[in-house]
Amino acid sequence: MIPAQFSYRRASTVDEALSLLGEYGDDAKLLAGGHSLLPLMKLRLATPEVLVDLGPLDELRYVRVEGDTVAIGALSRYHDLQQDETLRTHAPLVAHVAGVVGDQQVRHRGTIGGSLAHADAAADLPAAILASDGELVVRGPQGERRIPAAEFFLGPFTTPLEPDELVTEIRVPVSTGTGWGFEKFTRRAIDWAIVGVAVVGKSVGLINMGGTPLRATATEQALASGASVADAAALAAEGASPLDEPHASAAYRSHLARVLTARALEQAA
Ligand SMILES: Cc1cc2nc3c(=O)[nH]c(=O)nc-3n(C[C@H](O)[C@H](O)[C@H](O)COP(=O)(O)OP(=O)(O)OC[C@H]3O[C@@H](n4cnc5c(N)ncnc54)[C@H](O)[C@@H]3O)c2cc1C
Repeated sequence: MIPAQFSYRRASTVDEALSLLGEYGDDAKLLAGGHSLLPLMKLRLATPEVLVDLGPLDELRYVRVEGDTVAIGALSRYHDLQQDETLRTHAPLVAHVAGVVGDQQVRHRGTIGGSLAHADAAADLPAAILASDGELVVRGPQGERRIPAAEFFLGPFTTPLEPDELVTEIRVPVSTGTGWGFEKFTRRAIDWAIVGVAVVGKSVGLINMGGTPLRATATEQALASGASVADAAALAAEGASPLDEPHASAAYRSHLARVLTARALEQAA
């Protein structure tokens, strides 16, 4: 459980982080909260030669309303997001979900940008941002680009981010009073979700029902056609390919997806 040797650089501005990524290329890895990257390094599943620490980057810690959008700095920590009054008012699902990630220690270090960039299908915030029709703002040597969350999760731990790019901001539409709901089924209180569901209005995001966070499109289409919550939720696992493991079979996860979708939709109604 000892990482391979690496060198360590601190970036105090976005420009400095980009310049360090440019200097070290594929040999470098960004370090945000470290709560996914450091365990991987200890297992030697990740062996970056250079860690570029984004910790000092206070310029990416904010929540602000810009017109009809809530802009969230990528280095915002879960603990800050769960407490943030602007977020609680204007994007309540995101604030709520930030408060159910892991435990206190994880929430004081982990960042929303790190969670999305890591792209773990079992993580909570990616599905919430997907259900919110959010987008990611990314900066690299060519400038800035925006990637809808619907196009960001390409496969397990796989995104369209280039090695020299950095997620700077996450944007979600300002809530206009639309209902929302969230359900997370865990073995123990602080665990990762066996399955989870995030709902905003009639948009449904699924946690841990495949290699990426997913939209429950069959459920969404049924709701759009006027189906009842019960009938629409019964379709929640359509097209999903959940893991089949001894402690939670694919059939069990599909059952959970249907039950949790019904509950989250009822909360949102
Ligand atoms: C005990 C434990 C329990 C946990 N429980 C949960 C849980 O219940 N739900 C859940 O969702 N998560 C959980 N997590 C994971 C946690 O949410 C991590 O914080 C998160 O997955 C990664 O965020 P980070 O800021 O720690 O990123 P890091 O670990 O620092 O980085 C993760 C990856 O993202 C890249 N990266 C980081 N920031 C950026 C950026 N701005 N731009 C581009 N790339 C970037 C890094 O290079 C790295 O590849 C848990 C972790 C632990 C250790």
